[in-house]
Amino acid sequence: MTRRSALMIDPVTADEVREDYADTFTAVDAAAPALSVGELSTQRGDGVFESIGVIDGHAQEVVPHLERLAHSAALCDLPQPNQEQWRQAVQAAALLCGPGEAVIKLILSRGVEHGPTPTAWVTTAPAADFTSAREQGVRVVTLDRGYDLRAAERAPWLLLGAKTLSYAVNMAAIREAHRRGADDAVFLSSDGFVLEAPTASLILRIGDSFVTPAPNGGILHGTTQLSVYDHLTSRGLEVGYATIPASDLSTADAAWLVSSVRLAAPITAVDGSPLPVDAALTAELNAYLLSPRD
Ligand code: PLP
Repeated sequence: MTRRSALMIDPVTADEVREDYADTFTAVDAAAPALSVGELSTQRGDGVFESIGVIDGHAQEVVPHLERLAHSAALCDLPQPNQEQWRQAVQAAALLCGPGEAVIKLILSRGVEHGPTPTAWVTTAPAADFTSAREQGVRVVTLDRGYDLRAAERAPWLLLGAKTLSYAVNMAAIREAHRRGADDAVFLSSDGFVLEAPTASLILRIGDSFVTPAPNGGILHGTTQLSVYDHLTSRGLEVGYATIPASDLSTADAAWLVSSVRLAAPITAVDGSPLPVDAALTAELNAYLLSPRD
């Protein structure tokens, strides 16, 4: 079992090259206060983050997560993270994880108001038990996100493709799903296309091919979706990205919410109407996602 731990990172510039960044990491007591009251991450949710799944001390899909962290930082005009420094921070955090499933979070905040550098840290924690979502599935409701498909391009300050610390809206959507008797939500664009879930990507099976909403700025490009596509492609199956009308979700032959820690959760119902579940493929996907991958 993994215990909660935290490493503060003294961030260096993206172009600095050195072999060992260990002296830029400071272990702190994860239960003790560590941030200044002037922190913009806590005052404004002004920062970006990643959640990496860890299986028996092996951090999964580290490079795609670090690339997305860099992409989110760029969208938010934050200093570019030094990829090698963060890779070593993830490695150091993974060494603190015990057997079983855990989660490493990476946080890059704008720092203290008027301060000189961003604040950066990584944490480890045991993962919640997601057996039920993986095996019994999740009921979803569709919720309007209030933006059309072109909003990200038209209004980049909405930061729609960035994984920012401002997840209050995502959490509110999950509470609304619970109020409506479901387990999770799928966001729709205001012009009627499926997007993503508040903390997961969506994959549909239509006939023999698999499709996911194109990550064209409005949604996150999921690292788990990329891994699932690698696996499906290696099995000779057809995968693709598309603009998917909301009606395709309720008529899909199967659908999953996929994310780094919960992994593949089959969707069992959409807005109260049952959806077929491909139990064999779900089990196969989760076995694959639980195997060590880079
Ligand atoms: N979309 C959103 C909004 C998310 O928050 C997440 C993960 O937290 C995902 C998609 C899935 O991303 P990943 O598979 O990299 O965990």
